[in-house]
Amino acid sequence: MHMPIVKVALPVPLAQTFDYLLPDNFHPTVGGRVRVPFGQRQVIGIVTAIRARSELAHNKLKPISKVIDNQSLFSGSLWRILNWAIGYYHYPAGEVLFHALPVLIRQGKTVERAPLWQWFVTEQGRSTLPNSMRGAPKQQQALALLLQGPVYRHQVAELQLRNTALQALRAKGLCDLRSQAMQAHDWRLGFCVNGKQQRLNAEQATAVGAIRSEDNRFVAWLLAGVTGSGKTEVYLTVLENILAQGKQALVLVPEISLTLQTIARFRERFSAPIEVLHSGLNDSERLAVWLKARCGENAIVIGTRSALFTPFAWLGIIVIDEEHDSSYKQHEGWRYHARDLAVFRAREEQIPIILGTATPSLETLYNVQQKKYRQLTLRKRAGSARPVSQQLLDMKGLPLTNGLSMPLLKKMRTHLQAGNQVMLFLNRRGFAPALLCHKCGWIAECQRCDHYYTLHQHQHQLRCHHCNSQRPLTQQCLQCGSTQLITIGLGTEQLEMALRTLFPGVPVTRIDRDTTTRKGALEDYLSQIQSDGERILIGTQMLSKGHHFPYVTLVSLLDVDGALFSNDFRAAERFAQLYTQVSGRAGRASKNGEVLLQTHHPEHPLLRTLLQHGYMDFASQTLEERRQAELPPFTNHVLFRADDHDNRQAGLFLDQLRQLLNVSPLSDNTLRLMGPIPELVSKRRGRFLWQLLLSHPSRLLLQRLVAASLPLIDTLSQARKVKWSLDVDPIV
Ligand code: ADP
Ligand code: ZN
Ligand code: ZN
Repeated sequence: MHMPIVKVALPVPLAQTFDYLLPDNFHPTVGGRVRVPFGQRQVIGIVTAIRARSELAHNKLKPISKVIDNQSLFSGSLWRILNWAIGYYHYPAGEVLFHALPVLIRQGKTVERAPLWQWFVTEQGRSTLPNSMRGAPKQQQALALLLQGPVYRHQVAELQLRNTALQALRAKGLCDLRSQAMQAHDWRLGFCVNGKQQRLNAEQATAVGAIRSEDNRFVAWLLAGVTGSGKTEVYLTVLENILAQGKQALVLVPEISLTLQTIARFRERFSAPIEVLHSGLNDSERLAVWLKARCGENAIVIGTRSALFTPFAWLGIIVIDEEHDSSYKQHEGWRYHARDLAVFRAREEQIPIILGTATPSLETLYNVQQKKYRQLTLRKRAGSARPVSQQLLDMKGLPLTNGLSMPLLKKMRTHLQAGNQVMLFLNRRGFAPALLCHKCGWIAECQRCDHYYTLHQHQHQLRCHHCNSQRPLTQQCLQCGSTQLITIGLGTEQLEMALRTLFPGVPVTRIDRDTTTRKGALEDYLSQIQSDGERILIGTQMLSKGHHFPYVTLVSLLDVDGALFSNDFRAAERFAQLYTQVSGRAGRASKNGEVLLQTHHPEHPLLRTLLQHGYMDFASQTLEERRQAELPPFTNHVLFRADDHDNRQAGLFLDQLRQLLNVSPLSDNTLRLMGPIPELVSKRRGRFLWQLLLSHPSRLLLQRLVAASLPLIDTLSQARKVKWSLDVDPIV
């Protein structure tokens, strides 16, 4: 007689699921959690199947210890997507399924609401007029908001409130904290649309009309609209209808802290619960959002990549803002692409998805060509904003002051004197990217990476931007002892210092990862920028995302030539996106904007196309080049990576893997294998990195080949001497 068995996925880095005996009185369910013995431990797993018998001898199997859920944790569509993803990304089932769940659920917590902390106004606060606190604007603002209703502690930051202000109000007896179960009330009863609505322009109206006319089925819309063309306005208007039907919306953004202005617009527009999944949430707060969405109690969930796995009771639409952004691709562990999975989810849920951007990725444009996605275009800037004028500045032979040429300095002066803001873009933080000995040529280099140390003057430190290791700034060359150390190159920290001298009295705001580590710092800077008057902004890539800078009239990119001559076939696309995004920040309001690009290669065809014809022309030209060169999206890539500690094993391992793939009956003459070669950064954290790239025109055949070969990898003699991983559709 056979006892039925359950197949259980465990959060371990092993591809297989594990069989356990199912005792009579237990009633687990597929997609629910069970507790099982694993080695010496008890662990939590997710049931993936229940079978009448096992292929393994039953006397080798142990019974499950406990059933935690009698209902699946996953909706039907999420379950299908995740199971598809396990196969597509060749990633362990347990790790994929656990990744999609909140931490507390992974730890075995029961699926029920825990009370959360909430700020509320006291009686005394209720009888205090916010106006009476003019001297303390943050407190005034906080009190005014609390008077409209209580605020959960986890929503303080995104409502742009300050904890210090709330604490100060509390000290005065005007407000207090209480622990409150999240209330289940139906937002649909009181749903309404607030605020002054913009009259949509013709292109916006066309886009909204198209999306609305098919809002009950799966359509993937590319909303290609230049920066400031009113894409957000289109999302909002489309969402009005979706929410009015009682359905929910999922909005994915590249980074929450850079999107607060947009989130505020969502809140202003809808009187309906909007939850933001940001990094400041603790585990119970995250679980609360997850639970609410699952019961249909919130209208909109806004989050980054992993918010994609939020369960919804009645999901009506998915919006992916800045769909081209590389942060949608997970860069470690399970390397999924949230945009691709989101499209998959929309198809499974039979709902529309909007991919919005000023600079569509070539993958997305290819899908438009293939008629898988449908394109809507917004060509004009919305409202009164005018197009910017763009100019290349040939810096060959020009004297440079801290990376700034004479003509640029002159332009800056004109714009500043007119009381406007100037934005300088330099994608290199720190003081200088290298420290060199003038006597012997030694360069300070990270011991664990193939990478120079960046000098951080203010902290008196050398830092490796690859492994984050740091050491005190040396005064002497470690090779010859000379004290003649000089810096090479320019970083944002140095640029800021130089500008303070060059433009005395002009306020300078630098926004990069170093200046914004303190909580609230970014918000402070962004509010500085929202006020009129002369100002210089310095920024890295962070500045290219999501912000509106109404007073910036001159944007300059200081040093971008590196991108023109990169080995990476995606470098041109990335540069074009960056350039277009950065230059789109100028002259948003009614002021005329100007963009100046400093380069040594003004004749470069990429720059010419981009400036004369714009991103979309650049993109179709580049897509054509990809087709001819048989590069993605016209072919499919799978990248195997391996690393070791002595630079001997990883290359050998990938050689053996190459042999294995070559002799596979599933490989054919359209399969291309490139490598093994060292990675672009060939050493990181003391490990040597190698790669082997597989390319095949058929995604299906490539998938089959990889799937068939994976179980054989462990038989390779080198396999145990290295760490290896694979990356499907890699973006490096
Ligand atoms: P995007 O998301 O494409 O960058 P936004 O939706 O943020 O564009 O719009 C840019 C600016 O133009 C915002 O200040 C917005 O309020 C304004 N705007 C958008 N649509 C209209 C419209 N139809 N009429 C007037 N102003 C508009
Ligand atoms: Zn030296
Ligand atoms: Zn390092």
